[in-house]
Amino acid sequence: MRDLDENTCISIVVPCFNEEDAICETNRQLVAAAEKTGFQFELVYVEDGSTDATATLLTDLQRTDGRIRVVQLSRNFGHQVAITAGLEHASGDAVVLIDADLQDPPDLIAELVAHWIDGWDVVYGVRTERNGETLFKTQTAKLFYRFINALSSTPVPLDAGDFRLMDRKVVNAVLSMPERDRFLRGMIAWVGFRQIPVYYQRSARFAGTTKYPFKKMLHFAMDGVFSFSVVPLKLATYLGLISSFLALLGGLLAIMNRIWTNHWVIGWTSLFLAILFLGGVQLTCVGIIGEYVGRTYGEAKHRPLYFVQERLGFPDTSSREVHRQATRNSRP
Ligand code: UDP
Ligand code: MG
Repeated sequence: MRDLDENTCISIVVPCFNEEDAICETNRQLVAAAEKTGFQFELVYVEDGSTDATATLLTDLQRTDGRIRVVQLSRNFGHQVAITAGLEHASGDAVVLIDADLQDPPDLIAELVAHWIDGWDVVYGVRTERNGETLFKTQTAKLFYRFINALSSTPVPLDAGDFRLMDRKVVNAVLSMPERDRFLRGMIAWVGFRQIPVYYQRSARFAGTTKYPFKKMLHFAMDGVFSFSVVPLKLATYLGLISSFLALLGGLLAIMNRIWTNHWVIGWTSLFLAILFLGGVQLTCVGIIGEYVGRTYGEAKHRPLYFVQERLGFPDTSSREVHRQATRNSRP
């Protein structure tokens, strides 16, 4: 049991990118769900450079409710960075991450909080069913979680999204990890602490369309693999070794053929195939190494993860995040 009092505050972080059709309903349901927990709460909306009316709607909502805070980013930085910005601005003893499209049920927040009160530090949602998403998306997502677990030494919970509750100490732990390619569900799994799943059915989007087209999804998956595993690097070595061994074997066979038989290959086909195969292996390996080198380059630049255009509803505008950006910039 956790020791809580009337000052306990829960933050709900909501990344929003072009969610004008959903945001008002989402806010209504989130406020209702948060009130049910009986604790104080704040809603931290991160407006991720939307090009529609989301920013205006959020500003209006903020004016009518002092528990709403809005962080407007200077441009679109992507889902994972938006969540990070939200975490840095949240001040609660526990932080809930939830999407703005009502695919994750706000009603479940009470259950997440109940587990937190029981002493769990991370309560993460696991999707048993995904409604309203294409077969392609659900199947590739399924495959991805299994693939990454096969490669990575930190098991990432199967079929868990970013919908979860984290205790303050977990939030601080995650924020102390400065990497740029943020695969948050992997990072949260990596930090440890007491974690428990909660199962739920994922519904269809309330309104609007997915902001994760195939290209973004692929990039996200690559972040998951390359930030959490060096197995692909080893794979490159193994591939190289196997193809060299095959080449050696082929060479031996050719020599034996030449010595003990009267016929040997005159054609170009085998030669050509071998060159193609080895060229392919080499390019793949260079590509794999390139992924890591590229990421190292990105990290080496030490750029801040995002910039804030405007903050609304925060008691103190010289917030922690400003301090963080300053410290991050002054890192050696
Ligand atoms: N999102 C964001 N920035 C982006 C893309 C998405 O803040 O660049 C938000 C989006 O508004 C939503 C959440 O991240 O609240 C999840 O995005 P989406 O629902 O499009 O992803 P899906 O559920 O289809 O995987
Ligand atoms: Mg969604």
